[in-house]
Amino acid sequence: MEPSEQRIKIAVQKTGRLTDHSIDLLERCGLKLTRSKDQLICYGENMPIDLLLVRDDDIPGLVGEDICDLGIVGLNVVEEKRLNRAADGRPTEFKQVFALDFGHCRLSLAAPEDAVYDGPESLSNKRIATSYVGLLKRFLDENDVEAEPVYFSGAVEIAPKLGRADYICDIVSTGGTLRANGLAEVDVLLESEAVVIQTRKPLGDEKQALVDKILQRLDGVLQVHESKYIMLHAPKEALAEIRDLLPGSEAPTILRLDGNDDKVAVHAVCRENVFWETLENLKAAGASSLLVLPVEKMLA
Ligand code: ATP
Ligand code: ZN
Repeated sequence: MEPSEQRIKIAVQKTGRLTDHSIDLLERCGLKLTRSKDQLICYGENMPIDLLLVRDDDIPGLVGEDICDLGIVGLNVVEEKRLNRAADGRPTEFKQVFALDFGHCRLSLAAPEDAVYDGPESLSNKRIATSYVGLLKRFLDENDVEAEPVYFSGAVEIAPKLGRADYICDIVSTGGTLRANGLAEVDVLLESEAVVIQTRKPLGDEKQALVDKILQRLDGVLQVHESKYIMLHAPKEALAEIRDLLPGSEAPTILRLDGNDDKVAVHAVCRENVFWETLENLKAAGASSLLVLPVEKMLA
């Protein structure tokens, strides 16, 4: 095995909502992993890449302090850490690379169901319980409202019942927890999903090449997610209309059909899912012999 400093380290949530998706995504990039006995590290067997399994809140710090080269974490956590650092006059030492299309949620304001909310001005002089003081303050500043953030490290949704706050500002995905606590969502501060972050520190050439490779593979895996390969026969005179109906496709391949001068074969990668309605519309436009195949790997 290479010396540890030559290996890429990726910070991933140890146990939580992001864990399975993060590891699954890296495995789909071709990484074979074994967990250490203490379950704190996953070693890459076939590439010099290891995963550090940590609390999600620690991931921006680990990447920012250059202990890890990459991290997978919610945008909500990334933005909050960035604002906390900025408030202390410290620069952000990691950069956000791209969104991963899982871990979708939003940072929302919620109030007891009987409260009247007519926009941010309703928050004036109210107490708002949150673990996201940075993002909440930004929202209040942007809307020119004075209110009092009350820091709660967890169980924010019980703050109104305890008489500690008038509103809460917390992560919501289905809204079930809010409803169970007699709260209603009244405003959205941030739409979030899992993102990849990367250290700003220059890596050596070899490490940089490996980071680029893994990012390129991640991008490929994400593109494949929704992509389909579609094949069909099209009457030549309907070709333009049929091409326009192909969802999210770039220049398709047009092939001659043996013994048939009226029709051509059209093959295209569609970067969006192909639904039954699309196939029905293609057929109505004159297409025949339609076939939709999953795409397994893609390299731009
Ligand atoms: P840790 O022990 O790692 O600190 P945690 O309790 O902070 O765990 P999770 O509840 O597993 O974290 O959430 C991790 C991330 O998942 C959140 O920061 C957010 O980006 C995303 N997420 C998606 N849906 C939800 C949801 N309904 N509630 C909370 N987080 C969600
Ligand atoms: Zn956390």
